[in-house]
Amino acid sequence: MYPAQFDYHTPGTVKEALDLLGKYKDDAKLLAGGHSLLPAMKFRLARPAHLVDLRKVPGLAGIKEEGGSLVIGAMTTHWAVESSPLVKAKCPVLAQTAAQIGDPMVRNMGTIGGSLSHADPAADYPATIIALNAEMVVEGPKGKRTIKVDDFFKSLMTTAVGPDEILTEVRVPVCGANVGCAYMKFPHPASRFAVVGVAAALTVEGGKVSKASIGITGAGTKAVRAKGVEAALLGKALDAATIQAAAEKAPDGVDVQADLQGSVEYKTHLLKVFAKRAIEAAAKK
Ligand SMILES: Cc1cc2nc3c(=O)[nH]c(=O)nc-3n(C[C@H](O)[C@H](O)[C@H](O)COP(=O)(O)OP(=O)(O)OC[C@H]3O[C@@H](n4cnc5c(N)ncnc54)[C@H](O)[C@@H]3O)c2cc1C
Repeated sequence: MYPAQFDYHTPGTVKEALDLLGKYKDDAKLLAGGHSLLPAMKFRLARPAHLVDLRKVPGLAGIKEEGGSLVIGAMTTHWAVESSPLVKAKCPVLAQTAAQIGDPMVRNMGTIGGSLSHADPAADYPATIIALNAEMVVEGPKGKRTIKVDDFFKSLMTTAVGPDEILTEVRVPVCGANVGCAYMKFPHPASRFAVVGVAAALTVEGGKVSKASIGITGAGTKAVRAKGVEAALLGKALDAATIQAAAEKAPDGVDVQADLQGSVEYKTHLLKVFAKRAIEAAAKK
């Protein structure tokens, strides 16, 4: 399979990349790791006339700690997140999530910015960055702006990043000592995409949950916050009955979709099972 013909651009700065987006508008597409865009182009589901490759733009990849957050450049590969000592120390669930994406080739090429911008409904990162209350920094012709994760995923494969903007950074608050986090997914046996994935970040103070943050991916058209589960955990001790009751709320607010992976009933069931597993695993930590 070959993609339709396109012109290939290699900007050397974010400004140059933005200028190209401004010049070619709807005919242009940013290229990061290419592991979602190139298959789409080969199937002719995407036919950009201009590809703007971000791989030669310095400063877009890397991980550092700044002001209580991990700052992860958009072009940071899944492998770099998975293997980063800083991520493992400060926000281990993010490394664990990255490690569950696809296979080594996908993880060595695919980027966190590409994954979040693509917003595949079965992608792994979205659940975890919802649970971690991350923020996305984007740059456009009018400068920089920051988007909170709850405002980021708009609908199927659509985010708040404008067509003339570039996602440059993901800012993830460092996990505190009394925060337990986990990401649990039911992977598709071939692609490893999440048929259902649930991430939980729980803060426990005085034996009770003082903060619960739960993200869900896979089951619906976009990743969502599981507000019902969060409410059911708040102020409670993490005993078996509380966890079971909270997990039962996982499908609330999820627009569960039937597809080749399963029926609505099956995915609804999986949501409850994986919410329970994620909460239990977070509670143990
Ligand atoms: C066989 C296979 C298995 C996979 N399994 C999984 C899995 O288990 N879990 C999972 O989560 N993912 C999986 N993926 C997807 C993979 O993680 C991709 O790498 C990811 O979805 C896209 O990242 P990318 O860097 O390759 O982006 P690209 O494919 O280069 O781009 C994707 C889209 O995002 C846009 N874009 C890219 N970067 C930016 C940016 N900085 N700002 C704005 N827009 C941008 C592009 O224009 C394009 O529209 C799999 C992919 C393959 C091929």
